[in-house]
Amino acid sequence: METFQSIGLKEELVQAVQALGFVTPSPIQQQAIPLLVSETTDIIALAQTGTGKTAAFGLPLLHKIDPKAEGVQALVLSPTRELCMQIQEEFVKYTKFSRGINTLAVYGGTPIGTQIRELKRSVQVVVATPGRLIDLLERGAISLDNVKILVLDEADEMLNMGFRDDIDFILKNSPVRESTWLFSATMNNDVRRISKRYMKDPKEVSVARENSGSENIDHQYFVTNAHQRFDALRRLLDFAPDIYGIIFTRTKQDAQDISEKLMREGYHVSPLHGDMDQKQRTKVMDRFKRKMLQAIVATDVAARGIDVNDITHVINYELPEDAEVYTHRSGRTGRAGKSGICMSLVTSREIGRIRQVERLAKTRFHKSDIPDGAEVVR
Ligand code: ADP
Ligand code: MG
Repeated sequence: METFQSIGLKEELVQAVQALGFVTPSPIQQQAIPLLVSETTDIIALAQTGTGKTAAFGLPLLHKIDPKAEGVQALVLSPTRELCMQIQEEFVKYTKFSRGINTLAVYGGTPIGTQIRELKRSVQVVVATPGRLIDLLERGAISLDNVKILVLDEADEMLNMGFRDDIDFILKNSPVRESTWLFSATMNNDVRRISKRYMKDPKEVSVARENSGSENIDHQYFVTNAHQRFDALRRLLDFAPDIYGIIFTRTKQDAQDISEKLMREGYHVSPLHGDMDQKQRTKVMDRFKRKMLQAIVATDVAARGIDVNDITHVINYELPEDAEVYTHRSGRTGRAGKSGICMSLVTSREIGRIRQVERLAKTRFHKSDIPDGAEVVR
């Protein structure tokens, strides 16, 4: 087994990783890092959420940056502004002992002028959402003429979110790109299409779901009826006083409404969805990270950016439309070897969908009873 010392990384990166408390490389890191450090190759790397993909591409990427060369040498595309910020913050930690490597995150929802100014400094690594990057390209504020490494992080999510044309454009307009690294939790037709069209003989590495930590998750469902759904949610919260969780809703409006109702009843929660501006979202994430909130009520898109390891509960206020989304949601808990609980509220008519998720996501659910209101002591 590889260790961070033997995996081929520069000493200053190994030191930084140790300072972060990483002891051994995770399975996807074991496979991807030595390959990406020693070769110039395209790669498709598949591993579930929470398996350490950021370091799997981040460390070899930073290893390959030449601090003395001009221009942007590496570009990471990521689906949301929160993820961009997080990846860039990780990169800052990885380069704690490196000299002359500057990284920058650019994403929508904040004034572009600031980012244009920041790009005038010497920046070797840019982490961007596809939309904002194209905006910057069109304004001539950034050039991809020196980009050798291009990473597509959470490729399945980016494509699900409709960034397909933007990604095509960016891949077509990076003339000296030597390698394309595609990281994803799942493989689907859009991901395959990108790899066929823009990658040369990609090496494939993957980590089977069994190793991903999803076995730490207890999948439960609770049968309720539509007009008692909110009441049922409240009882679940009352019976999990130590909850540190995410409540998923299908719409932004639901996220807002449910959150407001819970707040009025004294629960420490906050909504997180795309109708909130960047400032508000950052503030919510901040309060959540500092554990001032017991839960956030979020849409799928907004929750993509939440990288918190000790989430105890994921609650599906309603089941998502498809099994892949269920896997993404439940994967927010049970991370980094910890155990987690994923609870889904369903009406009796929706039980069939539970069976569907069991088949498609290879999950086993068990049925639980909604705690009786009479027992609640608050
Ligand atoms: P993914 O992108 O696969 O969802 P992340 O890269 O966000 O996963 O990593 C999940 C968490 O695991 C992060 O908090 C990260 O700091 C931590 N982590 C990553 N690699 C290691 C490691 N080798 N040892 C311990 N913790 C790690
Ligand atoms: Mg990731």
